[in-house]
Amino acid sequence: MKVLIVGGVAGGMSAATRLRRLKEDAEIIVFEQGPHVSYANCGLPYHIGEVIEQEQSLLLQTPESLHARFNLDVRVNSRVTKIDRATKQVTVSNLLDNTEYQESYDQLVLSTGAKPRMVPIPGLERALVLRDVQDAVEIKALVDNKQIKSAAIIGAGFIGVELAENLQHRGIKTTIVEFRGNILPQFDPEMIEPMQKVLIKNGIELALSAETEAVNESTLTLKDGRVIDADLVVAAIGVVADHKLAVDAGLEIGDAGGIVVDDQMRTSDPNVFAVGDAAQKVSALTGQDQMIWLANLANRHGRLVADVIAGETVAARPSIGTGIIGAFGMAAALTGLTEALAKRMEISHKVIHLHPGSHAGYYPGAETVSLKVLFDPETGKLLGAQGIGRDGVDKRIDVIATAIYAGLTIDDLMNLELSYAPAFGSAKDAINQAGYVGNNNFTGKTESVQFGDLADKMAAGALLVDVRSESENAAGHIPGSVLIPVDTLRQNLDQLTGKEVIVHCAVGQRGHTAVQLLKGHGINAKNLDGGYTTWSQGMDAKNRATSN
Ligand SMILES: Cc1cc2nc3c(=O)[nH]c(=O)nc-3n(C[C@H](O)[C@H](O)[C@H](O)COP(=O)(O)OP(=O)(O)OC[C@H]3O[C@@H](n4cnc5c(N)ncnc54)[C@H](O)[C@@H]3O)c2cc1C
Repeated sequence: MKVLIVGGVAGGMSAATRLRRLKEDAEIIVFEQGPHVSYANCGLPYHIGEVIEQEQSLLLQTPESLHARFNLDVRVNSRVTKIDRATKQVTVSNLLDNTEYQESYDQLVLSTGAKPRMVPIPGLERALVLRDVQDAVEIKALVDNKQIKSAAIIGAGFIGVELAENLQHRGIKTTIVEFRGNILPQFDPEMIEPMQKVLIKNGIELALSAETEAVNESTLTLKDGRVIDADLVVAAIGVVADHKLAVDAGLEIGDAGGIVVDDQMRTSDPNVFAVGDAAQKVSALTGQDQMIWLANLANRHGRLVADVIAGETVAARPSIGTGIIGAFGMAAALTGLTEALAKRMEISHKVIHLHPGSHAGYYPGAETVSLKVLFDPETGKLLGAQGIGRDGVDKRIDVIATAIYAGLTIDDLMNLELSYAPAFGSAKDAINQAGYVGNNNFTGKTESVQFGDLADKMAAGALLVDVRSESENAAGHIPGSVLIPVDTLRQNLDQLTGKEVIVHCAVGQRGHTAVQLLKGHGINAKNLDGGYTTWSQGMDAKNRATSN
């Protein structure tokens, strides 16, 4: 068996090493166009920021180490330029001496990854990108040699934000220019607002709802006329599948923009497989094809393709899509569907927001973990979640990702038995609390109003009652609300009888108590989901998107 693998990083190298473990006698050749294999793409921004000091730390393996342990024939600086499916051969260009040769295969695996998306902006050819080790070294050298004082990053996706944090660490005045109204558009706006505040607090400028008109010699001009200092410009506008080889070879490309594969990673040619960023995934939540640019899936599917080639009966499950990003001590994570996506795909859903603590409030260091959870209104099945905060976000989103994988419902979150001691969680963990809030909503015990619908409801005559304390109200309140602290509600029922009442507190908890109390007195009451905290995050995000 002779297996050729194109692309020697996440998916490709997982496939190669797994295949060797399963098939000692297979001939396995890996082609990588760059000078490095098995490098840590995800660590690249942190090398620029000197969090990862040594370039060497990014290089997890070398062709020599892979040969010694796995008997792999790893050829760097070797670009595969053509696949001849009829004769089952590839053409390889040796980038060091410009020679070309053919190599035959029984099975071919493509793990060619994704490349930065470029758009037609005048002057964009001056922009650098961040895809591989050489890119990181190039950007870092500019910073090290004090050749730049300012940077503009076009695009506020994961890579753009991580790079911005690291450039700012290095003392470079950094601006992120984003076409949409909020950074990290993978998230719903109100959920990412705390991250926007943190970036701004740490000196990063956000130019939102902003289009780049031109990249100039040391500036960037926006369509609204603003000029941004930009000794360095980085294009982080997103990525596209790097699948030219597959396209040229006539392999099927799907509507989502990647190579079409079945659940065994087989392309439209049974002898050619594709994994990682170049290949389409099937969403477990929508059933539709989609691109998910994440290392865990590339590695997993690389392993799986080796199993398939070795003759095992295995199949990939549809993908949920779980990711996380951190900057300046804050983490934002998501899994499954966001509300924006659910709406776009017309998938019916219910939403809850809550703001529990990362661990017991009485133990030092507790931080708020803001969570948003989506579930099916009919079955309660979990559809997605987002979390943001300074501690414990990864744990909560990973639990919900696992729950989605297992097909659990919002009610199941109440019943999960999670580890607890004061330094690590709460007897009612944030996840259990999501279950409680969701259950109240799912069963209709406490109906809720989303922050985005509040203005319309009030315009239609609903009375908004702030049930927080006087001091909380004085520190900030929703225009048009009346203050009746929850402990005085029973004495003020006459003000509310016969009206449609929406109550709110800081995060929704006292609001739930107030709704139950008012319902007990025959008053039609609903709770503002996530309370003042979610409402103000939502309003701040909205204002920020339109204030530039
Ligand atoms: C800066 C950065 C940060 C990231 N951070 C995260 C993170 O924190 N978490 C996360 O989950 N994901 C992250 N990712 C994404 C993650 O790295 C990718 O999802 C993953 O590497 C995809 O694996 P792959 O094998 O498909 O492609 P890659 O790992 O990109 O490997 C593809 C390789 O194929 C080579 N190649 C392409 N065409 C040819 C050819 N014709 N001949 C020979 N070689 C070829 C390329 O040179 C490249 O080295 C990050 C990516 C970047 C760039």
